[in-house]
Amino acid sequence: MKKHKMETIAIQGGYNPGNGEPRQLPIYQSTTFKYDTSADMAKLFDLESDGYMYSRLANPTCDFVAKKIAAMEGGTSAMLTSSGQAANFFAVFNIAGCGDHVVASSSIYGGTFNLFAVTMARMGVEFTFVSPDCSNEELEAAFQPNTKAVFGETIANPALTVFDIERFAKKAHEHGVPLIVDNTFATPVNCRPFEWGADIVTHSTTKYMEGHAATIGGCIVDSGNFDWMAHADKFPGLTTPDDSYHGVVYAEKFGKAGAFITKCVAQLMRDFGCTPAPQNAYLLNLGLESLPVRMERHCSNAQKMAEFLEAHDKIAWVNYPGLPSNKYYEVAQKYLPNGSCGVISFGVKGGRAAAEEFMAHLTLGNIETHVADSHTCCLHPASSTHRQMTDEQLDAAGVPADLVRLSIGLENIDDLIDDVANALAQI
Ligand SMILES: *Cc1c(COP(=O)(O)O)cnc(C)c1O
Repeated sequence: MKKHKMETIAIQGGYNPGNGEPRQLPIYQSTTFKYDTSADMAKLFDLESDGYMYSRLANPTCDFVAKKIAAMEGGTSAMLTSSGQAANFFAVFNIAGCGDHVVASSSIYGGTFNLFAVTMARMGVEFTFVSPDCSNEELEAAFQPNTKAVFGETIANPALTVFDIERFAKKAHEHGVPLIVDNTFATPVNCRPFEWGADIVTHSTTKYMEGHAATIGGCIVDSGNFDWMAHADKFPGLTTPDDSYHGVVYAEKFGKAGAFITKCVAQLMRDFGCTPAPQNAYLLNLGLESLPVRMERHCSNAQKMAEFLEAHDKIAWVNYPGLPSNKYYEVAQKYLPNGSCGVISFGVKGGRAAAEEFMAHLTLGNIETHVADSHTCCLHPASSTHRQMTDEQLDAAGVPADLVRLSIGLENIDDLIDDVANALAQI
């Protein structure tokens, strides 16, 4: 099949209607699916044939959308989850259980940090956090004999550090483990981590992918590149019989292309049930259709806003990977040549109090616990999303207590800059 470009996959990927079938993706609003004989159904239970039995495990609407995202990322298989949190939990727990260890970037989303450092730690999975800017020696020292994966975010939310995917992938592979990359902020439009050596990609589709602040969702995509059998002793869940599934050996039966996602659906979705609703998958698909067009505008709006803020005398500092003054400018030019994302962070002179006053004077930039949708919004992480973290953890995550996060939407940029200029004039 011809390899299409991103804009084409975003519209035509995944669902391909036959003669006389609906042009837009149908919503299969059904918990269950009908079969003529018990033998037909048994084949599904034995993972001997493709098909659907119960929507907790899989649903055609959700699968069409997962297939589209797999194509956008250049992967071999994918699954949707009910949230980005579920996607990151499943992606890690699918290969790391009690007694195992994971190396993770310290510059990650607060919810993911909490999931790893507190909740998964209680389940017996140990994490070592390393700075995304650590030396190769520091990175090397973080590995243990029981390390099962490395984890990072392409562009960290909200620190906006840019992850050196190629360097971390190389180190992960030297240790025989996969690199998992949360590609939420960049989206496949601006970065395709598989092209730089990542093995598994996760998304909170809640952000740009769906893009309109309408649904929570997540996705896991497998590159199909990681050879589980070559490291069979490290990944017994994939390379030895699954007693809870008729003794299937996922890596043998489904190969590199399908083992990770098949196991994740058959075990984790079955047991935890973080199932996306078909209606939400439908809305996600609508969002994906315009993702390439929207990302271009998010990035050009944000670039103009970042330049305006950097030149303003009431602003202490601006953090945006698209500014030549930015610490990650060079890395961003490598991994994100067409733009990074629509999120900017900055400090208002006068610290915490000035930042809160500035935010109260905005009329278009609403105060919200959200980012990365069509509406401009802002947030003070230290008093909201990251409030479970200590000051040391905040600094390690690159989120100082005075940081304001501004997510630039798709409104007219002149109106947005006017709004920010007015709010700054009032403090
Ligand atoms: C929002 C977010 C998540 C969590 O996603 P939900 O859909 O809110 O569960 C995970 N990773 C990143 C980078 C995010 O921005």
